[in-house]
Amino acid sequence: MEETVSKNFIEQIIEKDLAEGHCTAVCTRFPPEPNGYLHIGHAKSILLNYGLAEEYHGKFNMRFDDTNPTKEKEEFVESIKEDIKWLGADWEDRLYFASDYFKRMYEAAVTLIKKGKAFVCDLTAEEIREYRGTLTEPGKDSPYRNRSVEENLDLFEKMKNGEFADGEKVLRAKIDMASPNINMRDPVIYRVAHISHHRTGDQWCIYPMYDFAHPLEDAFEGVTHSICTLEFEDHRPLYDWVVKEVGFECPPKQIEFAKLYLTNVVTGKRYIKKLVEEGIVDGWDDPRLVSIAALRRRGFTPESIKLFVDLCGVSKSNSSVDYAMLEYCIREDLKLKKPRMMAILDPVKLIIDNYPEGQVEYFDVPNNLENEELGSRKVPFSRELYIEREDFMEEPPKKYFRLFPGNEVRLMNAYFVTCVDYKKDEDGRITEIHCTYDPQTRSGSGFTGRKVKGTIHWVSAAQAIPAQVRLYENIIDEEKGVYNEDGSLNLNLNSLTVLKNCLLEPAFAEAKAYDSFQFVRQGYFCVDAKDSKPDALVFNRIVSLKSSFKLPK
Ligand code: ATP
Ligand code: MG
Repeated sequence: MEETVSKNFIEQIIEKDLAEGHCTAVCTRFPPEPNGYLHIGHAKSILLNYGLAEEYHGKFNMRFDDTNPTKEKEEFVESIKEDIKWLGADWEDRLYFASDYFKRMYEAAVTLIKKGKAFVCDLTAEEIREYRGTLTEPGKDSPYRNRSVEENLDLFEKMKNGEFADGEKVLRAKIDMASPNINMRDPVIYRVAHISHHRTGDQWCIYPMYDFAHPLEDAFEGVTHSICTLEFEDHRPLYDWVVKEVGFECPPKQIEFAKLYLTNVVTGKRYIKKLVEEGIVDGWDDPRLVSIAALRRRGFTPESIKLFVDLCGVSKSNSSVDYAMLEYCIREDLKLKKPRMMAILDPVKLIIDNYPEGQVEYFDVPNNLENEELGSRKVPFSRELYIEREDFMEEPPKKYFRLFPGNEVRLMNAYFVTCVDYKKDEDGRITEIHCTYDPQTRSGSGFTGRKVKGTIHWVSAAQAIPAQVRLYENIIDEEKGVYNEDGSLNLNLNSLTVLKNCLLEPAFAEAKAYDSFQFVRQGYFCVDAKDSKPDALVFNRIVSLKSSFKLPK
């Protein structure tokens, strides 16, 4: 069969490396810092790395990049593992922690010192910045740059032994203060920090800097292709320098791709954290967020996220994707998999005057007309029903084909009814709608006598199950954009609507956390895993049925 899908640029690099013998088997990794929950952007990176390992029958490692103890927490380690498992990326027995390599990193630093490629520097952070130069001017050598190997070894050991205070000394790579790439101007590779680490406790009071630690972690694990986002492009010469000078025979190769951004959606960990800490959202898994935990709670599926990531593709230039594309993906995934059932979000009572009191009949209703495999269910019908308030109007505008006085509509899967009367309370609010039904229009009877233009859904009052339904909008006010001038977020104050008096057909009784359904004519909804209880169901609207999104050709 001819190949129709063209390879992305990363696949092309990998295939060339394999063909030319630069590596024999592919090994990728996902290296999150455990300082927050993962979001949709991370999902892209996870699925990309995992997908490449699968495609080339290689390995995918999971590694926590926990070299900065100030912001890291065990809580995040657990949530990250759960999210990656849920997405389906399997690291098998290769779960690693950068902190497990602290000793080897220390030894690598000693190797550099012995080669005359690293030195202990006494300049303050401020002075280091001044000496660094600018984009247009070269930097200046540190006065400590020419310390002897012996002195450097001695001082570095003292740093490790806790003989210096935070910031008093650092270890720097000795590269080139005149390099056009500022990252190469004798970067700091170790700092003193007297803080406990969530895994190594007080064993260390020096910690490696990201640009030194990361290439080493990759190299220790035999990672062949270290895939990261574009902001690290300028760091690649340093990455290559570290693995070469420390002396790895098959150094990993860093490849950068563009981050995934969603238009008008908050993805940055820093901002999500702020929303959580300020109590604006209900935790990291608030269904309005795009953290993976939030998407899962809202009712997104791993399949929908995979589809989304595939549609986004892999690129070298930053761009932003419309949230509607994510909605398209979840609709596509749920369309044939989920039952379509009746739920009334804003109920008003409908009474069928000529239907026998106390009688209940059951209609056999297919669960999904497009997928017979989902079977059918029994739906009770009786004299008193509930319908959506918006499906009735006293004085309908033109082209309103639902219920109004004198009009006949189809009650979905049941009978034709004609509105004969209605009642209102003192405030003018409709309290009851009265209809008559025509027994010969029974669904399934093959009745062809006449047609009606409107079909509305309903639930039988006596058997209905109460539920709360939450409707979500973007937490950002899209008209104003994501950020204010001062960097704060432009919040949409109406991002959550809680409907407390919803009524569902009895088939919902078995619904459990994370189960999702199509509510006919409304959208897709998922049982909230945090707040729903068997006798007090809570649903999140995942997405409405309507979409303006068109798949790009
Ligand atoms: P954030 O900027 O949201 O805080 P981060 O980059 O600090 O994220 P890390 O834990 O350092 O988060 O990232 C783990 C991996 O995920 C890195 O390889 C990073 O490049 C990748 N990644 C982070 N954000 C995105 C994104 N929006 N799209 C694709 N990959 C991303
Ligand atoms: Mg980061």
